[in-house]
Amino acid sequence: MSDTDTHKIIVAIDGFSSCGKSTFAKRIAARLGYVFIDTGAMYRAVTLYALEHGAIRSGEVDERQVVALLDRIDISFRFNPARGASDIYVNGTPVEERIRTIEVSECVSRVSAIPEVRRKLVAMQQAAGSARGVVMDGRDIGTVVFPDAELKIFMTADPAVRARRRYDELRAKGDDVSLDEIERNVRSRDRADMSRAVSPLRRADDAIELDNSHMSVDEQMEWFMNEYRRATAAR
Ligand code: C5P
Repeated sequence: MSDTDTHKIIVAIDGFSSCGKSTFAKRIAARLGYVFIDTGAMYRAVTLYALEHGAIRSGEVDERQVVALLDRIDISFRFNPARGASDIYVNGTPVEERIRTIEVSECVSRVSAIPEVRRKLVAMQQAAGSARGVVMDGRDIGTVVFPDAELKIFMTADPAVRARRRYDELRAKGDDVSLDEIERNVRSRDRADMSRAVSPLRRADDAIELDNSHMSVDEQMEWFMNEYRRATAAR
């Protein structure tokens, strides 16, 4: 039997900022023929919309205004063969590039702590995974979105390694950012994500931890396939 002949499952990947969750999740989805859903992109898309529609000014998030905008935000995904993953769209406009800026990163944790925002996005994520066969990455997938996911992974990596990865990624795209600024952002998002009242970032009791500070993507895939075989054989 091949790796993908088993019944489809949900793979939930949670963890800290800039651990390489999306890269890992995307590779897993391609390997298993599953759909990949980057839930961080959804919180970023709402944040971008709020920035562009006056609900965030000078870094101050006006929660009531963000909530008032929610009904006007239609989020969708379209597969982009060049990236081997889906790009995110807001009201039909592609925003994949614009949601990755430091400006969005600096406000997203406050937007994602708003209960109404989480309610809307969690419902969308649950609908997207209802047929299983998905790899979803985020902060609360194994704890809140799919507490019954068959395979839960909690990713961690040294904060300095994570900041370096995010810095290299942004510099490669031509963004003029400093390593210091990125490291501060990574650490403050982790603090905010872990301490918020609604769905804080935490490791689910039944999640397996993966510290990838010193692992290549190939090594992570080898580790994953062993865990995947174990999880599907146990069913
Ligand atoms: O994964 P990424 O770093 O792009 O996520 C951006 C932000 O979105 C996180 O810092 C967090 O505040 C929020 N988020 C969340 N729950 C998720 C995914 C992301 O609160 N499931």
